[in-house]
Amino acid sequence: MSNRDHKYLVIPGPVEVRKEILEAQTQWMIGHRSTAFADLFARLQPKLQQVFLTQYRVVVHGSSGTGLWEGASRNFIRDGKKALHLVGGAFSDRWAKISQENGKEVDVIEVPWGAAHTPEMVADALKTQHYDAVFVVHNETSTGVLNPVKEIGEVVRQYDDTLFVIDTVSGFLGAELRTDEWGIDMALTSSQKAFALPPGIAFATLNDRCLERAKQVKNRGYYFDFIEIEKSAQKNNTPSTPPISLMFAADRQLDDILAEGLENRWQRHLTMREMTHTWANERGFGLFAQAGYRSPTVTAVDNRTRQINVDDMAKFMGGKGFSMDKGYGQIKGTTFRIAHMGDMTTDILEEVLAGLDEFIGAK
Ligand SMILES: *Cc1c(COP(=O)(O)O)cnc(C)c1O
Repeated sequence: MSNRDHKYLVIPGPVEVRKEILEAQTQWMIGHRSTAFADLFARLQPKLQQVFLTQYRVVVHGSSGTGLWEGASRNFIRDGKKALHLVGGAFSDRWAKISQENGKEVDVIEVPWGAAHTPEMVADALKTQHYDAVFVVHNETSTGVLNPVKEIGEVVRQYDDTLFVIDTVSGFLGAELRTDEWGIDMALTSSQKAFALPPGIAFATLNDRCLERAKQVKNRGYYFDFIEIEKSAQKNNTPSTPPISLMFAADRQLDDILAEGLENRWQRHLTMREMTHTWANERGFGLFAQAGYRSPTVTAVDNRTRQINVDDMAKFMGGKGFSMDKGYGQIKGTTFRIAHMGDMTTDILEEVLAGLDEFIGAK
């Protein structure tokens, strides 16, 4: 039996949140129009800029990442213009649908699940017509693919009037990301994946090009209107009541992340990826994501060679105190995912892999 007092989350979101971070949320409530709140808001900005590697504002919003998807779709696509979505898994597919459901014209470059998008694909599409924005998922959580956003950014940056917007919900703070240097106009994320915060708060960088574009778009809605959000941010505030407790948690978590160091954090994730790959290869499993594009934060283990029963596996691992994933959407069961993100340590990952070994009878 497990010697933990709770199940440690090895699922790719929400992930395990350390007790110190949970406890940071228990500070006494403050009013969001108070100076104490303005101080909190202002204190978060430079820390967020340091971890996003941006000189621009970082939006802090009370929603999950999906809300900022909708915001990006609504704020950046003008009437009569189109967005280009790169689709290759469950999340990138949903984002394209959200753009459409907001009445936007969308073209899609679709690759099979498990494959990455290449800069050449994007270059070909941009040659044939103008797009108001290119929407890319950095780390496709359903398949464990890490897209080459740096290289794709080099292509998109040749077009002045095309915004480069990335979803780094499960990549941010686990996989290398250099927002300004890579020509990313907006990088959006939520709290509950590699950021290792509780769910309910989302973050996004927003450069001046984004705001210029938003001004030219009608019907941006209200809750995710980036112009309104920016107006309030100028006063260290938010248009509506923000998730204050989660901001306390973020404040603490950002201190810890900066103390670990961004590069060290990326490296820790690469080490955990390596451990997971070695384990899968040695036990006769495959890796679902295309070689060369495998995520440092989540591995989709290809179960077609061994065909373990993922329900039994999850039950067994539950007894060891670990909450496991059984695969997502159309690849449920033929794959299962091991999330190695957030504040997970190599020691904990070793325990997880040892538990899996016990289940498959490898030891
Ligand atoms: C989880 C996830 C989302 C959705 O984010 P929510 O915070 O659940 O709304 C979007 N994109 C990716 C890549 C994700 O992993």
